[in-house]
Amino acid sequence: MSLVLQPLASGSLGNATLIRGKQGSLLIDAGLSKKRLVERLQQVGHRAENIQAVLLTHWHKDHTRGAGLLCRRLGIPLYATPACMPAQKPELLKHPHTFSPGESFEIAEFQIETHLLPHDAPETVAFFIEAHDIRIGIVTDLGHSLDPDLHAKLQDLDGLLLEFNHDEEMLNKGPYPPFLKERILSNQGHLSNTQAGSLLERSLTPRHRVLFAAHLSKTNNHPSLARKQIQQSCEKAARSDLEVRLCTQDQPAKAFWF
Ligand SMILES: [Zn+2]
Ligand SMILES: [Zn+2]
Repeated sequence: MSLVLQPLASGSLGNATLIRGKQGSLLIDAGLSKKRLVERLQQVGHRAENIQAVLLTHWHKDHTRGAGLLCRRLGIPLYATPACMPAQKPELLKHPHTFSPGESFEIAEFQIETHLLPHDAPETVAFFIEAHDIRIGIVTDLGHSLDPDLHAKLQDLDGLLLEFNHDEEMLNKGPYPPFLKERILSNQGHLSNTQAGSLLERSLTPRHRVLFAAHLSKTNNHPSLARKQIQQSCEKAARSDLEVRLCTQDQPAKAFWF
């Protein structure tokens, strides 16, 4: 084992993903309360004290809810962009680190690349994390899938966690108010199953070993619809053998060990 990808929670009520290396671990987003985060970590046999850094994709609450408290209480370094950091009360943190979208840096055994995403929070990023020749992409909260640089980065991965937020028909016919529907459907919103499927189909290579479908809306999507889309995209990319796992809000997904 050289790397473990372990989603702890995913969806509009809170997102967090644990990446375990040989010596330590990173937490990507901390969108549950500190108490819930610690519980989820315990559930997967990991101690919060062993997290070497928390990295935030953007300031929306479903990605940051427990970050400040977790990092303050346990002295964990927190990494965020200048747009995201102020709300985390950096003056109370022992180790606040800011980075710009597009910047690369290292934390212990992990090499981290960041990539700017089109979303309605400034400086939203994707993370590409590499250690021991395994490379993982964490790509959620983006309004469109047409960025050629992002596409190129997705092709060169062993594992990908990608947003499959909504089914367009369910969203259009669903209970959300018009302004919210417009927001989600916009180029600064979230990826639909169709958009994510198209990006997946164009990105899959023989290198990919696992896909985690993430940030599924409970109201505007259904796991079976996301799965169907993924199956079609994998077939078109001649990768029907790809391991596919769906992330959920209520419990950790099954970890993938590289
Ligand atoms: Zn989100
Ligand atoms: Zn967001």
